[in-house]
Amino acid sequence: MLESGPEGAGGRGVWAMRAPHGTEGFSLVELMVVVVIIGVLVAIAIPVFSSAKASAQLKTCFANQRTLEGAAQTYLAQQSVLPPSGIIGSSSWAVPTLIKAVPCCPLGGAGSYYSMDDSGTVTGDNGAGGWNIPHAHF
Ligand SMILES: [Zn+2]
Repeated sequence: MLESGPEGAGGRGVWAMRAPHGTEGFSLVELMVVVVIIGVLVAIAIPVFSSAKASAQLKTCFANQRTLEGAAQTYLAQQSVLPPSGIIGSSSWAVPTLIKAVPCCPLGGAGSYYSMDDSGTVTGDNGAGGWNIPHAHF
């Protein structure tokens, strides 16, 4: 059974309290509490969204690598030899017969590209032997 508060039995409780006539509305303290709560929620949400974005970009990068490796395997099936290793450029063996366009790494941005080694494994490449962006391409 619920216990009654100070205003329990006869009153309608704290939620039914009414401000005196002419003073309805929110006090400055109430508004500040709401603003602080919203600020805390935003402060929690921003890092979550940014890490989700980085995770999606990395997964896209790996998917790009798998796409290019699949194209290399198709080339192997058709030509009985792997395509030449090295940077997979926009006018390479893959385009336009096997893939429409060569993707670039969403983390590396424009100017980033992929290269393939002699075994057909595709990795990210910034043209200088690696990335200056710390994510696990290799
Ligand atoms: Zn990448």
